[in-house]
Amino acid sequence: MRVVVDLNRCQGYAQCAFLAPRVFELHGDEALLYTPAVPAEQHERVRRAAAACPVQAIVVGEQAGAAGVR
Ligand code: SF4
Repeated sequence: MRVVVDLNRCQGYAQCAFLAPRVFELHGDEALLYTPAVPAEQHERVRRAAAACPVQAIVVGEQAGAAGVR
């Protein structure tokens, strides 16, 4: 599974880093680092993180490739 974060949309709320700390990591107030290729054991966590993001900046699964970063 792949994940893409629209960093223009991301406001650094850190919900994702809280729910899936092995995939999303916040550096400082707004610099989000993440692992685009999500390992299988992290899929559920990343889906929850995507659902929890207040600004819907996280795109997961097949959509990630198709939608890209807008
Ligand atoms: S939850 Fe959304 S807005 Fe918050 S840091 Fe993650 S991607 Fe950015």
